[in-house]
Amino acid sequence: MAKVELKGISKVYEGGVRAVDNANITVNDQEFVVFVGPSGCGKSTTLRMVAGLEDITEGELFIDGQKMNDVPPKDRNIAMVFQNYALYPHMTVYDNMAFGLKIKKVDKAEIQRRVDEAAKILDIDKLLDRKPKALSGGQRQRVAVGRAIVRHPKVFLFDEPLSNLDAKLRVQMRAELSGIHTRLKATMIYVTHDQVEAMTMGDKIVVMKDGKIQQIGAPLYLYNHPINKFVAGFIGSPPMNFLTVKIIEKSGQIYADEGSFVLRPAAEHVEALRKYVGKEVYFGVRPEDLAYTPKASTSENDMPTSIMVIEPLGSEIHLYIKTRNQELIAKTTPNYTFHIGDEAHFNPVMEKARYFDKETELSILRDQESDK
Ligand code: ADP
Repeated sequence: MAKVELKGISKVYEGGVRAVDNANITVNDQEFVVFVGPSGCGKSTTLRMVAGLEDITEGELFIDGQKMNDVPPKDRNIAMVFQNYALYPHMTVYDNMAFGLKIKKVDKAEIQRRVDEAAKILDIDKLLDRKPKALSGGQRQRVAVGRAIVRHPKVFLFDEPLSNLDAKLRVQMRAELSGIHTRLKATMIYVTHDQVEAMTMGDKIVVMKDGKIQQIGAPLYLYNHPINKFVAGFIGSPPMNFLTVKIIEKSGQIYADEGSFVLRPAAEHVEALRKYVGKEVYFGVRPEDLAYTPKASTSENDMPTSIMVIEPLGSEIHLYIKTRNQELIAKTTPNYTFHIGDEAHFNPVMEKARYFDKETELSILRDQESDK
């Protein structure tokens, strides 16, 4: 298996579109790395440059220390699984999986061994004589993955492979692919626009926007220490809330003034916020970090709101709430009964709050949020 390194890689398409700008990414041996970001952010282009399907405009690509910029795709020892898995309709599952190896003139017995091994891993060993049209979407997707596995590639590349599946099957295949990664101990790069897939599957996530890498890190690190407002809002569902607050100082103490209530930042955030006294910043708080307080509280950090929309999901309730001026979402346990229009009080978990500069949108706590 292999290590993949992208050093200062950019892609400028004909017509001048800079689809990827100065990407620096290290995918370690046996790592599962997910490129995630909204549509058009350059994640597929980055993957396709690794595959050799797109030329690299600037920068260098290494696989296991060997420069790959000018190596043709077939000689890179990688296997790619696409969203549109394009199985040959007239061939059986077995032949679909064996095809690439036959072309490479691999010995027949070896082909049989590899196909059987992959079919067992993917639990499709009973389907080898079927044609693709006699398979469900999930089974077809497994055959497409099988076609990659039999090649024993150094690196697996996945481009939105689950997008065509229904929601339930996606969840199941997500777990299966994670399991396959564990079994094969393979280096994998996976592209998706779905942050839940990124969070659940990745050892490491690369968040992209407008062709630029925003942050690279382990899923929970990005969740807890987003480097900017974009990453904070992109990772997590429902997304992080952002309230505009003014940082004020009273008798030496720092507060965040929302207009209709005042919050007292956690001790570890005070020093960074002191530089913003007199200025507005974004106060970021996740829906699950808004603790509902059933009785109107007079305690510090009380956030009075009114309830606009109630979404009972069974295991939890999402509340769309409004302070005097601003809207946000809270997540609570289903132990309470709510009514639209009710007043409801919340206590933000201040240690978990994030603060973002209003102009640069960078985390004000970013000295504490380096890439990890
Ligand atoms: P993503 O995979 O994140 O949705 P892409 O890598 O497909 O994004 O595209 C990144 C940007 O490059 C987009 O603005 C897209 O329109 C542009 N782009 C993609 N392919 C081409 C192409 N062949 N020619 C010109 N522009 C392209």
